[in-house]
Amino acid sequence: MKPLLEVKNIQCRYQNTIVVDNLSLHVNQGSLVCLLGPSGCGKTTVLRAIAGFEPVYQGEVIMEGRLMSKPGFMQAPEKRRLGMVFQDYALFPHMDVFHNISFGIRRCPTEEKRQAVEHLLALVGMENFEHRFPHELSGGQQQRIALARALAAKPTIILLDEPFSSLDPDIRENLSVEVRNILKKESITGILVTHHQDEAFAMADQVGVLKAGKIHQFDTPYNLYHEPLDQFVADFIGQGVFLQGTMMSPDTIETELGIIRGDRAYKWERGSKVDILLRPDDVVVAESDNALHGKVVHKAFKGADILYTLQMPTGSKILALFPSHHDHAVGDQVGIALDMHHVVAFPAGRAAERV
Ligand code: ADP
Repeated sequence: MKPLLEVKNIQCRYQNTIVVDNLSLHVNQGSLVCLLGPSGCGKTTVLRAIAGFEPVYQGEVIMEGRLMSKPGFMQAPEKRRLGMVFQDYALFPHMDVFHNISFGIRRCPTEEKRQAVEHLLALVGMENFEHRFPHELSGGQQQRIALARALAAKPTIILLDEPFSSLDPDIRENLSVEVRNILKKESITGILVTHHQDEAFAMADQVGVLKAGKIHQFDTPYNLYHEPLDQFVADFIGQGVFLQGTMMSPDTIETELGIIRGDRAYKWERGSKVDILLRPDDVVVAESDNALHGKVVHKAFKGADILYTLQMPTGSKILALFPSHHDHAVGDQVGIALDMHHVVAFPAGRAAERV
């Protein structure tokens, strides 16, 4: 199957500064893809290049087999059949919900418009809101209407630029899941840009993790968390720390917290120094006499769990996620063990840059 959208080795610049370089992305019909990365890494620029608001200086953008952008050529945005949803809702304040949603299809016959708006309002769970004005709606409701408006013209692809970032975290996560369900129900292809991992994971089938205009890994949320390809992805996705270790054999690594035996073989020589990714859920409570002990230096209550920062006797700090009935105070010594289902290691010395 040919991808619906092919972004091939594009380069984008502002004046002479290259902000996106040699970036490629393939999106299949019906799939939901997210570009995730820290602020300023080029996510919006890529989305704008896809939409036809930014030129490409190298590479191509192809939609449904048709060339949309190449150096010196840019098909107009309105000819790309794209729907867009932005962070700031961008509803027309002087129009009610009916007229906002039907704006893109305002030349259609009245009955067709009425049916389309009815269908879209039902789809976004806002039946009977057609006479309300934007200022009479909550942020989440306005964003549902913005989505309905973007879908009205039956776009080939819908582009969502940080669509839930101005909403409260609770609403953000629920709405991300809901929007995913809506788009899946209608088999709509979507590209989301966000710097919130929870939003990306709740919505997307595949996520491209960007740093400084380059995709470091394009994968499922599960693989990004469990099989990060490099230290940047390991550090940016989820929480965790790196433990220093020394290879003893392809699947056995000596660390300051004991010997870790993994479920995979690494090709590095015996004696090579490595950094091992330790997630908070790799650390479990251990009450035996020979357990390792760490001192609680910080705790964050998460409801069902508590995330502890533990200072180990070796000086390292690690994160541990315990069920919240294991309630310890700052300063307490806590017995722990490592329970790593699989070991993710990288050559040492390329410490991840915190963002
Ligand atoms: P993100 O969406 O990941 O936050 P952007 O794509 O908005 O990142 O920006 C990428 C880089 O390009 C940033 O360094 C930003 O400062 C710069 N940039 C964005 N828009 C412009 C512009 N219109 N003129 C000059 N530089 C810009």
